[in-house]
Amino acid sequence: MFEQPGYLSTRGGVTDASFEDALLGGLAPDGGLYVPSIWPMLSSEDLADLAGADYPDVCAAVVARFVGDTFSPEEIRALSAAAYSSFHHPDIAPLTDLADGLYLLELFWGPTFSFKDFALQLLGQMLDALLERRGERLTIVGATSGDTGSAAIAALANRAAVDVVILHPAGRVSEVQRRQMTTVDAPNVHNVAVEGTFDDCQDLVKAMFADEVFRSEVHLSAVNSINFGRIMAQVVYYVWAYLRLDQRPFSVAVPTGNFGNAYSAYVASAMGIPIESIIIGNNANHGVSRLISTGSLSIQEVVPTIAPAMDIAVPSNFERLLFDILGRDARLLAATMADFRARGVLNIPAPEMAGVVSLFRSAWMSDQAIEGYMGDLYGSHGIIVDPHTAIGIAAARMRSDRVNVPVVAVATAHPAKFAETVERATGCLPDVPAALAALTGLPERYVSLPADLALIEAHIRSVADVR
Ligand SMILES: *Cc1c(COP(=O)(O)O)cnc(C)c1O
Repeated sequence: MFEQPGYLSTRGGVTDASFEDALLGGLAPDGGLYVPSIWPMLSSEDLADLAGADYPDVCAAVVARFVGDTFSPEEIRALSAAAYSSFHHPDIAPLTDLADGLYLLELFWGPTFSFKDFALQLLGQMLDALLERRGERLTIVGATSGDTGSAAIAALANRAAVDVVILHPAGRVSEVQRRQMTTVDAPNVHNVAVEGTFDDCQDLVKAMFADEVFRSEVHLSAVNSINFGRIMAQVVYYVWAYLRLDQRPFSVAVPTGNFGNAYSAYVASAMGIPIESIIIGNNANHGVSRLISTGSLSIQEVVPTIAPAMDIAVPSNFERLLFDILGRDARLLAATMADFRARGVLNIPAPEMAGVVSLFRSAWMSDQAIEGYMGDLYGSHGIIVDPHTAIGIAAARMRSDRVNVPVVAVATAHPAKFAETVERATGCLPDVPAALAALTGLPERYVSLPADLALIEAHIRSVADVR
């Protein structure tokens, strides 16, 4: 078959993990991130075979190159088919032509209408299959500022081998986002409205992972965006876009927060997909954009914006790209990260800026510019997009210098999830998918708790079914 990668930690503490270890572990034990030991390639014959294939088949072809012997080819096909069966569009990820060489890859037709469903639906299937095989159960705990929580709940509701506990900051997620989490009526779904901010929720989750007794007692695990399984699942839609473009070289434009989606495009390129450039778009929290254009990142306070899924100061997945930027030298990477933590400044040496980094371009926008651009897009093209997607399209326009190379901008959320901003920017309300409209009036299930570790751990002990 194919040469299969093993998994290693970017910081050098793990050198021979399996895909199963990486998927179930999430973060490597040395605090680094799992990456494959080699980039598996998609040859032109492989790609010719995939022309005309449907989304689950493209998914199965990509996944088969990453999972070693964790899943058989038959299992992979079954898991891929199941993962995308709940999407609301027959193409799963439709590619629409916006004219002038610009395309929109709509990644918002999953059960919760953000691109997070692409990774979490597949991860949910894989986790369940693995845990059943091992006869184990896990308690998955996560903090959300909006989209991740609902995507994780949709992927894990009613699965026999997991309990899922999602902490959201009370009163600080949108009404649609809250209902998407709290109206799910499944015995293994547990929502907690924390009296605090998103940062409080994240700190609580980190503290639970640091509490070894609690951690082993409830078999704690996470599905946050540092899990390599999520990256792998997101590579698929870049391969898919290439196939839909009849295998022409192209560039991508990606609205970026934790750098997972943009890094997935990089992985597609490393596997042989001819991506000319990866254009990343930031909101006012534009550390990554600065890092790519100047080689330097200093930690700054996060400011709230109208594209809240990208309100992030330190993009956790950047460490994976940095590993390649530094020539896969784990010792150098570990030293660079330690220095970054100590001094709050990250510098990419000048010679390295000419390598991997040169694949990337970047742009950023203020809230005012985002809203203005959403209005312009509606006026000029008649399309309504959410604020995150608008940043990607604008970045594509600002930074694609090759006029004859098509640019694929990824649409990361359905505009109905950000209806208020859309209405302010365009003067009209987006169409609301029936599945979202149906949430209004359903009973909500959640408990409200203060941001207190002992109280929240006690609550999780009481709801988690640990055999
Ligand atoms: C999570 C999210 C992003 C950011 O994606 P990253 O992989 O974290 O860079 C962008 N847009 C939306 C709508 C999201 O939910």
